[in-house]
Amino acid sequence: MTHDILVVGAGLAGMRAAIAVPPDLNVALLSKVHPIRSHSVAAQGGINAAIGAEDSWEAHAYDTAKGGLYLGDQDAIEAMCKEAPQDILELERMGVIFSRTAEGRIAQRPFGGAGYPRTCYAADRTGHALLHAMYEQLMKRRCKVYEEWYVTALLVEEGRCCGVVAWDMIHGGLQMLRAKAVILATGGSGRIFSTSTNAVINTGDGMALAYRAGIALEDMEFVQFHPTTLKDTGILITEGARGEGGYLLNTLGERFMKRYAPEQMELATRSTVSLAIGQEIQEGRGVDGCVLLDLRHLGRAKILERLPQIRELAMEFAGLDPIETPIPIRPGAHYQMGGVRTNAWGETELPGLFAAGECACVSVHGANRLGGNSLLETIVFGRRTGTKAAESIRTVQLSPVSETILKSEQQRIDKLLSNPGPERAWQIRDDLGKTMSLNLGIFRTKQSIQEALSAVQALKRRAEDMCVQDKGRVFNTDLIHALELQCLLEIAETIVVGALGREESRGAHYRGDFPTRNDTAWLRHSLSYRRPEGPHLAYAPVTITRFPPA
Ligand SMILES: Cc1cc2nc3c(=O)[nH]c(=O)nc-3n(C[C@H](O)[C@H](O)[C@H](O)COP(=O)(O)OP(=O)(O)OC[C@H]3O[C@@H](n4cnc5c(N)ncnc54)[C@H](O)[C@@H]3O)c2cc1C
Repeated sequence: MTHDILVVGAGLAGMRAAIAVPPDLNVALLSKVHPIRSHSVAAQGGINAAIGAEDSWEAHAYDTAKGGLYLGDQDAIEAMCKEAPQDILELERMGVIFSRTAEGRIAQRPFGGAGYPRTCYAADRTGHALLHAMYEQLMKRRCKVYEEWYVTALLVEEGRCCGVVAWDMIHGGLQMLRAKAVILATGGSGRIFSTSTNAVINTGDGMALAYRAGIALEDMEFVQFHPTTLKDTGILITEGARGEGGYLLNTLGERFMKRYAPEQMELATRSTVSLAIGQEIQEGRGVDGCVLLDLRHLGRAKILERLPQIRELAMEFAGLDPIETPIPIRPGAHYQMGGVRTNAWGETELPGLFAAGECACVSVHGANRLGGNSLLETIVFGRRTGTKAAESIRTVQLSPVSETILKSEQQRIDKLLSNPGPERAWQIRDDLGKTMSLNLGIFRTKQSIQEALSAVQALKRRAEDMCVQDKGRVFNTDLIHALELQCLLEIAETIVVGALGREESRGAHYRGDFPTRNDTAWLRHSLSYRRPEGPHLAYAPVTITRFPPA
């Protein structure tokens, strides 16, 4: 089990990275689920690229920098927006079935915060179309995939990452997998919150792996709340629904966005729309803890053609047909703007370790991600990272590794299996979700953040007595949930500490006690380093190239 490059995660970022590795190198992927069950498959609305006749990559870069409240690094933003059109064409040639205009060109829809209809899509199932095409490419290249393997730690020898320790979920047992370079592509951490659009597997594992290895997590306080998720389940209702012309209404039947963003209305940035919805609900103009997303005026034909999955989800999970009835929606945790700190080529502070996709912070999204820019990030930076990792190992020799890390991981698992309890992972996970949604949702204050901090610290102590009831080796999901919970708790703590530190409001981070943006003190990235007592904060400058903060 030795490879030149090992990619942890087989979502869009991981697969795109593996495909970018030249065929003379031996690349393998490892994933805790079958590749096409990765969360990328659930992406709905689309992927951005300035391919329209009157659009330009500079306009895309400007919208991205501005939408992220100037906290994004503009060298990385420029690279992403400049390379996007070529990447989209390449995806099309790989076989992605994009929706088309009447002239047969790739269709684009308007998305929030974008000055131009720039979002390419495949109806409202874009992630599905992309991920399946990518998987075909992976099979064509006969890449080795370790399916249903769970990575528990990085192997680090003499200041270089040289592989991972992973649990074989099918047969049970820990193994070392060695490589000259490791790429983390493990996706998001949305399951820290109880109201979340994320798949249950999105538990921030890769961020925790890097953090435990001493690498900085960047801008963790910036968690995007998507404005429109279904009541009760938190299932996403794509921004494409507003892109196609959907209205947001309060209990008075008023299009309330006219009071918050009179020009952009429903297509203001996500943080603006989420805050507006929160305020409407808080001031008593909500409908049963929600507001309404009205699609009726779009008409049956358009809904069936452009938003078929949204209609199905509303019928299945909210019991109503959006052709006839508005959908009750509310904001839910959706995307982690922060992550493993990397440069624009996916390199981390640790030689041999790279990161791409949602688990990384490159950083292109700054304080708020624009819809359609995340799928783009997985493709552009997946490709760049795979290319860079391949270049970087040409002169690297596989060094021998000791079994120290393997043994300490074995002890961690033995302890979980032998703990008498009484705590169970799911109980702690439930409590974590509730406290994070309540205290670190769209509104935060010093008091709410401090409450969350004490709660998370108490939950960490409870987790030490966590008991895994299934003692078997084969498909021990109880054990995997316990390992995931340890990641969730650690990542939650970095979000809380980062939010406490940042005494301003910017994008997705809205502090009631510091309601304005403060560029003089806070136009800087926050970095979280792991210490025995908890996260230690440091700060780093933001790269500004052509768009001065306004
Ligand atoms: C419902 C929904 C809709 C979205 N819609 C859009 C959209 O329309 N446009 C847009 O731009 N963005 C959208 N996003 C965001 C975007 O889809 C994600 O940010 C992106 O797909 C993440 O891709 P990824 O490759 O980084 O990670 P993922 O696709 O999440 O893949 C992560 C991989 O890591 C593996 N993994 C994780 N931990 C471990 C471990 N410990 N051991 C082994 N393997 C591990 C998993 O098995 C998986 O293969 C949406 C997100 C959601 C939740």
